[in-house]
Order: sequence, then structure tokens, then C-alpha cells
Amino acid sequence: MKTVYLDHCATSPLHPDVLKTMLPFLRDSFGNPSSIHTLGRKAREAVEEARGRVAALIGANASEIVFTSGGTEANNLAIQGIARARKDRGNHIVTSSIEHHAVLKTCQYLERSGFTVTYLPVDHHGIVNPEDLKKALTDKTILVSVMHANNEVGTIEPIPEIGRIVTERGIPFHTDAVQSAGKVPLNVKEMSVDLLSISAHKFYGPKGIGALYIREGIRIDPILYGGEQEKGIRSGTENVASVAGLGKACELARETVAVRMDEIRKLRDALQERISTAVPGLTINGHPMSRLPNCLSVSVPGLIGETILRDLDARGIAVSSGSACTSHSVEISHVLSAMGLPKETAQGTVRMSLGIMNTPDEIEYTAASFVEVVEKLKTLSEIENSLGSRRCY
Ligand SMILES: *Cc1c(COP(=O)(O)O)cnc(C)c1O
Repeated sequence: MKTVYLDHCATSPLHPDVLKTMLPFLRDSFGNPSSIHTLGRKAREAVEEARGRVAALIGANASEIVFTSGGTEANNLAIQGIARARKDRGNHIVTSSIEHHAVLKTCQYLERSGFTVTYLPVDHHGIVNPEDLKKALTDKTILVSVMHANNEVGTIEPIPEIGRIVTERGIPFHTDAVQSAGKVPLNVKEMSVDLLSISAHKFYGPKGIGALYIREGIRIDPILYGGEQEKGIRSGTENVASVAGLGKACELARETVAVRMDEIRKLRDALQERISTAVPGLTINGHPMSRLPNCLSVSVPGLIGETILRDLDARGIAVSSGSACTSHSVEISHVLSAMGLPKETAQGTVRMSLGIMNTPDEIEYTAASFVEVVEKLKTLSEIENSLGSRRCY
């Protein structure tokens, strides 16, 4: 059976050129970048070349990039790092209610340690209203963190506008750009951000490596202590092969983002068109325009997303769902809840996220399979309803 991978918002395959860049550092060029001998200097060169490539993708200086173990650590370092460095100035943090758990749970941890957090609401498209943000800021606000693109529905937040409001008040502004990096152009100056997180595995790089941009002049405390690598902000011997892979992924993204994203957007729009005309009642989640070009989140009211996912998986199609079956009920994601989706609709949510390897044939096969699966499940669910039982299987 062929596989159609449509879960690029969860992770992406490694690009062959990225693998090629990484391999020497897993073989002969194994030096520690802190060592002074030739092998060490070779590793150092690779790390610094990668740093320049990351910086170039987001319009930053190389000196403003710190490597981390991924998006989760970058978000933790930004939020905990600022909170610790600025705790004498205030204890208030503002974020949104649709952030990735790497941001939300870090904020919840800080709430248990004496900080106060405001979770901004979103509209039914998942957009944060900058007016709500203005009202939330106080003299005690030490950090604002609002994600660039949402991982479940693909909505892109008005970051430049939010960034201006926050930075004009002299408050540090962080954005989680893990989903948008490599998919839409990023420029830290145009976005008015002070801190920005990225993760390699979401755009054809390896897992377990990411970076945090920290604007020159923004002071943060480390969360890891040790050998003082990365100017003491992130101790630990650099993951040289992965750092080089992240750098290569950034370079590839910078060269081709506009072209390949245009093609992917066309495929996504074709898939959206096909299934929304064939499935009555189907709704599209996320902002119609301000949305990642590769992301398609849809809801089929009355069905269970996880059931659709399993049936598509049986046909070789990998997608993800916006709900999880627990023993007695269906859990709705915090993002769909915050967007105000009724439970009946949110339960039937499936996310299909495309990548550079997908072909028109695969999209055609997916559209046809989706329609068949949904029709079959609708018939089953009518039978179940008439029997008065409602299962989550
Ligand atoms: C995947 C993801 C993360 C976590 O990144 P990891 O590298 O997997 O730790 C953080 N934020 C968003 C928006 C993501 O999609």
C-alpha cells in the first residue's frame, strides 16, 4: 500500500540535502566545537556557518541566535528566561489561549511560582484582537508571548501589529514561529519581535534541534547551567550534526519558500475545494486568508475526528485529529474550544498538512478516500444514533 503523508505540522521527513550536510559530523568530523585542535575548529566552523544560515532566514544577526534542543526548549528558555531576568520589575505575563503546550504549560508553571498570566481570547478564526492585548498590559507586564502560526488550524496572528504595541511599551515580545518557519517569510524586524522560536523538524530538518532568536540588548537568564556554551545562555556541548542540519534546512527554506509554498497552497486549495463540495455540513477551521499555505483543518459535525483518522490510516493516509478518544468521552483540543467551536463540530475535526513531496495524485486519492470514509461513517453513526448508543472507537 502506498502512503500519503499529510501530517507535516506534526513533523516532516528529513530533506536528502540536510542528511548529506549532517553525515560528516556523525562520522569523521566528530570534534567538540569547544576544542582548540583542528577537529574541534572544524566543528566550530560548522556550528557558526549554521548560525549564520538561521539568522539569514529570519533577518537577524548571527550573534542573536542560540541553539536549543527544539521548539519546546526554545519556548521554555524565552519565557522562563525572561521571567527570571525581569522578576524584580513585575510578575505579569500575557499570552494567548491557543498557544502550543510548550508555551501554555510553561506559563502555568510560572503561575504556580508567583507570576500572573493573562490568556487572551481569540475569535472564531483563531485570531487574537490587538485591542484585547492593549487592555491586558499593565505596569507589571514583563513579557508578551503570542504564537505566529497556530499548529492545529494554521491561523497566522497579526504579529507585526501586536509586536508594535508591545515593544512601544518597552515590554519584551516573544513569538513561537515553529509552524511558520520555512513556510512563510519571517523577518524579526518587520515583526517587531524580541524573541522567536523555531524547530528544525517542522521544515525538513532533524528532530531535537531548534533555535531561539534573542534580540541584541534583551537580557535573559539561562535555564541550563554548565560549560557556558552559547555565551552561557545554553550550556551543553552543541549537537553539531543537528545544528548543521538545521542550518541547511534554513538555507533550503530561504531559497525556495516562496516557490514551493505557492505549489503547496494550490494543492491544499484543491483538496479543500474537493471535500467541501462533496461533504455536506463540512466546515473549514482557521482564518480563510491569514492561514499557513500547507494546513487544512476541517470538521464534520456528528463524526469523531479520531475515527476518520484511523480509517484514513487504513488506506495509507496519515493525518491528525483535533480530538482524542479517552475511555468514556471525546476530548476537545484547547484551540478549537477557544475558537468557540460547538462540541459536536469540534469532535469531528481532522487536520491535513501538506509538504513539498506531496503530488496532485496523492491529493486526488486523499480527497476521494476522505469522502468515502465520511459517507461510510455517517451511515454507521445514523444507525448508532437510532439504537441510542454513541461509541467512540
Ligand atoms: C511542534 C511545535 C512546538 C514544539 O517543537 P519541538 O521541536 O517538537 O519541541 C512548539 N510550538 C509549535 C507551534 C509547534 O508546532
